[in-house]
Amino acid sequence: MPSKERDIPLRDHPAPTGPYCSFGGSLGDDDLLKTIHHHLLSFLGRDPMRAGNREIYKALAYTVRDFLIERWVKTQKDFYAHNRKRVYYLSLEFLIGRSLGNSLINLGLYDKVAGVLEQMGYDLDEVREEEEDAALGNGGLGRLAACFMDSMATLGIPAYGYGIRYEYGLFYQRLLDGFQVEHPDNWLRYGTPWEYDRPWNLYPVKFHGRVHRYHDAEGKLRHEWVDTSEVMAMANDILVPGFRNDSVINMRLWSAKASRELDLISFNRGDYVAAVQSVVESETISKVLYPSDDIREGQELRFKQQYFFVAATFQDILRRYKKQHGTDFGRFTAEIAVQLNDTHPAIAIPELMRLLLDEEGMTWEDAWGICVQTFGYTNHTLMPEALETWAVDLFHRVLPRHLEIVYEINRRFLEEVAALYPGDEERLRRMSMIDEGPVKKVRMAHLAIVGSHSTNGVAKLHTHLQKTRIFNEFYEIYPQRFNNKTNGVTQRRWLLKSNPGLAALITESIGGDWVTKLEFLRNLESLAGNRSFQRRWLAVKRQNKQRLAALIKSDCGVAVDPDSLFDVQVKRMHEYKRQLLNILHIIIHYQRLVRGERQEAPARTVVFAGKAAPSYAQAKLIIKLINSVGETINRDPRVADRLKVIFIPNYGVSLAEKIIPAADLSEQISTAGTEASGTGNMKFALNGALTIGTMDGANVEMCDEIGRENMFIFGMDADQVEAVRRDPLRTPETVYQNNQEVRAAVDAITAGEFSRGDTALFTPIVRALLSPDDPYLFLLDLEDYLRCQEEVDREFLNRTGWARKSILNVARMGKFSTDRTIREYAEEIWGIKV
Ligand SMILES: *Cc1c(COP(=O)(O)O)cnc(C)c1O
Repeated sequence: MPSKERDIPLRDHPAPTGPYCSFGGSLGDDDLLKTIHHHLLSFLGRDPMRAGNREIYKALAYTVRDFLIERWVKTQKDFYAHNRKRVYYLSLEFLIGRSLGNSLINLGLYDKVAGVLEQMGYDLDEVREEEEDAALGNGGLGRLAACFMDSMATLGIPAYGYGIRYEYGLFYQRLLDGFQVEHPDNWLRYGTPWEYDRPWNLYPVKFHGRVHRYHDAEGKLRHEWVDTSEVMAMANDILVPGFRNDSVINMRLWSAKASRELDLISFNRGDYVAAVQSVVESETISKVLYPSDDIREGQELRFKQQYFFVAATFQDILRRYKKQHGTDFGRFTAEIAVQLNDTHPAIAIPELMRLLLDEEGMTWEDAWGICVQTFGYTNHTLMPEALETWAVDLFHRVLPRHLEIVYEINRRFLEEVAALYPGDEERLRRMSMIDEGPVKKVRMAHLAIVGSHSTNGVAKLHTHLQKTRIFNEFYEIYPQRFNNKTNGVTQRRWLLKSNPGLAALITESIGGDWVTKLEFLRNLESLAGNRSFQRRWLAVKRQNKQRLAALIKSDCGVAVDPDSLFDVQVKRMHEYKRQLLNILHIIIHYQRLVRGERQEAPARTVVFAGKAAPSYAQAKLIIKLINSVGETINRDPRVADRLKVIFIPNYGVSLAEKIIPAADLSEQISTAGTEASGTGNMKFALNGALTIGTMDGANVEMCDEIGRENMFIFGMDADQVEAVRRDPLRTPETVYQNNQEVRAAVDAITAGEFSRGDTALFTPIVRALLSPDDPYLFLLDLEDYLRCQEEVDREFLNRTGWARKSILNVARMGKFSTDRTIREYAEEIWGIKV
């Protein structure tokens, strides 16, 4: 069904002017005021004199959206006019957070708007708190997609984000007696002012059915996917402005709508209730984000989500392409690049093949050539058990034609492998796209590597381990396909917006170029030893800590000392991220204090936040342990002014923006070889926290840049981890037996000292710690971690030394901007000159 939307008129219309029509040219306070009033009155039906913060927020957001849409139209026209290569970034997650503050900053309107609101009697910071986070992602992978959008807009790249408009984002986390309880995140309850519905931009997406084979007029064998059920995909656009460059791009997020034909059939049978029921069922596809980060979910609904958004996206891509080129696919790969954020959208590979073969009548060879040239695949995990697979029978039921195509891709691929390695049956079994185990499964990563021209890791170490471990046999065959793109973060959100105090101090000292060229931070190096600059630097940190202390007081009811060392670990709860290692240090530190040792150590406030996947029992139990240890310590008068342990509920982007600027110490302590990159590590260092970390993910490159002497590095590296896993003599049991402090800490957990005498509650944790094949090596890294934490204590007491290191950390973070990351994707994968 052709779309009725006329994307962007290619003719120029004269732009209407007037206070509500256009913001072209300079903008007076009066115009802003008028527009806010206008939105209050005509969209919100509010008396402007009686509006509260929530109404002001909405009216302001609509005002900003007016701004964005004008610039978006101009940006799109420009892309068409210059016929530039387009990038489609496909991601099942975009962890956006709030948009108001970020848009105002990028548009250069922040101060003006703050002034106008003040005239009206409102405080912009308060008004901004009214916005709900758009939590359409789980963690790092989704946040990376959001940072990429900001950088692509800022670099003026003709990019489109494509994903799903989940009605319910990542669950809202509450704590009940220290246990995580999940609540629905109904972020659209009051609507969102940031999106444009495109009810005319509807595409049908097919599921189920069967494959009909026939010979066409020329006698060629053709395949038709028939007897399908259909769901409609409706576009919603969220606009993303670049930093003061008038460029605005969009994320097109699809919502599922029942198709009209489907209703009709039931209505004709007179079954009204069944008809409505079927409407509800088709619309469940975009209902909820799967809440699992680095955990596999094998459910049919998740599989349908993946195909749903991919199928709608490719109809949109082809519509846009055909508008200019008709059915001549000769320019396709010159004008289109598609990046797959992990394997979640990898079904795009057989989908594009299906479109080119079955709908366009292309030969396999021609279609395959286009396919491989079009796609790039970003892999995000090193843990084999987290690689995505789909049961073949599920695949067959939901997408029968795609399964045929996958089998054919695989058949041809294995023929290639067999020719290179004659007689090596085992290799064929390992490399096959089909896992022939007891339950047959499709291995999506194998499909993604073979069906694209680029597979990239997200940090140097990660890419190295891809080549040498998880995908080493693919690397042997396609060495030129593998490449590294070290992650980054956008400094617009993660410094300029989240830490206005530090941003202002930096800009005052070295100018504001760092906002678009993060390397300019290097100019801070010469100030690292300057006493008065150090004092101002520490004063900003102190202010941020004070603000966080107030938040902790109101959200957790605990008073913490802003002069204590703020030791922070905030990220998804996962065994490999080793929040348990952190908590073991806390217990040991606590027991030392109680024994009267370590009295010289600075007071510490240890802050945790993070969500556990609802199905991940061990991660949830770790949340309970942190809260139980916290409860015991926080009410023990013997350590009252020495140690506090806080778990702030409902970690998300907005909370991260408040916590990270207040951190002294950033915990990045995953088992080496497990964290692909990490981006939390970068946000902390960019905000002047010192890192205690393992040689894992991007920590390794941070260490290269910042200098090992300005970080706290401990533990085994990835090679040592690999070796020790095979060493029968180094076991957790030996550490437990030989180290009295470690034993006392583990025994305290076992004895129920943190669980009111309940000795059963934490046994799964104690068992994991002492297991001879603990994959995370908690106890084997613990002793070096303890040593390193004592070094932290010593260094923290030397305030000038600490300030100097903090300044040097920030000065040397220039590499870790997504501006740099995106430039590399553009030039090395997408074939776009920036
Ligand atoms: C940056 C970020 C993450 C990723 O943190 P890691 O420490 O790299 O795991 C997760 N969640 C949110 C809200 C973030 O902002």
